[in-house]
Amino acid sequence: MPFIYFEIPGTEFGTHVFPLIKYRLIRKALRDQNIPDSEFITPSPASDDDLRLVHSPAYLKDLAECNLTARTMYSELPLTPEVVQLFRISAGGTLLTVDQALQHKWAVNIGGGFHHAFEAKAEGFCYINDLAVAARKFVDRHPRKRVLIVDLDLHQGNGTAKIFERDRSIFTFSMHQRDLYPPKEKSHLDIALEKDVDDSTYLRLLDDAFEQIEQQFSPDLILYQAGADPYHDDQLGSLGLTIEGLRMRDLRVIAFAQRHKAPLAVTLGGGYAHDTGDTVQIHVNTCLAVYNSFQSR
Ligand SMILES: [Zn+2]
Repeated sequence: MPFIYFEIPGTEFGTHVFPLIKYRLIRKALRDQNIPDSEFITPSPASDDDLRLVHSPAYLKDLAECNLTARTMYSELPLTPEVVQLFRISAGGTLLTVDQALQHKWAVNIGGGFHHAFEAKAEGFCYINDLAVAARKFVDRHPRKRVLIVDLDLHQGNGTAKIFERDRSIFTFSMHQRDLYPPKEKSHLDIALEKDVDDSTYLRLLDDAFEQIEQQFSPDLILYQAGADPYHDDQLGSLGLTIEGLRMRDLRVIAFAQRHKAPLAVTLGGGYAHDTGDTVQIHVNTCLAVYNSFQSR
């Protein structure tokens, strides 16, 4: 049952660029593709203990009480109990995604990928760094094992990079647009892309990056942030990838995971195409690429 999904009560954060509706549309598209309901599980909110693996007590108190402080005020999202709960469930979803990936070799959280949240600071539509919580919990439970975080969102995974800056068991790789939010942190491997980079250049750089990673790190688990925003018609960026190019990107990540026999836990990340239908298509393609690649083995 390796798709993780929960129904969000609302469909938008007021007039916000983040299309909250996308998750429901992805779920519907997967149903239309005849993926049975038995493949979907509903996550529970992450526990306080899980969140404390990454986030500071003072920051978690701000979230719990919806206190607008220097720690919470840069999220660019409303700070309400409902929104905080949404992030807690997303983090629970990514934890469940890892559990499922360990059992089935793959799993996809139809959500998650909130890579701009720091230990004690919200940023860029992110309150809780679900990727970081799930990675840290995995290495805490399996002390000798190692996690690779592959972050192919348009934006650098700055929160994740900072959280694991000095961690040798969790390797952070981010490939993103150079001249864009956020101010960059140092991942273990960063590939900063110029504007308008096309499919073939992107895929070549991704192949090169995987070669570099292979030479220094052997993962026991891969967490993939499959942002849809490197798309050429995204409102927030200027990369030049097509929908097909993004599908090829996903296949590269899947092939890398299969080559290393590493379970693949996928989160969806950002996506702000002018046409939300394009964002949904890119995410659905990610879900189907993973599903079909592992079904056929
Ligand atoms: Zn993004």
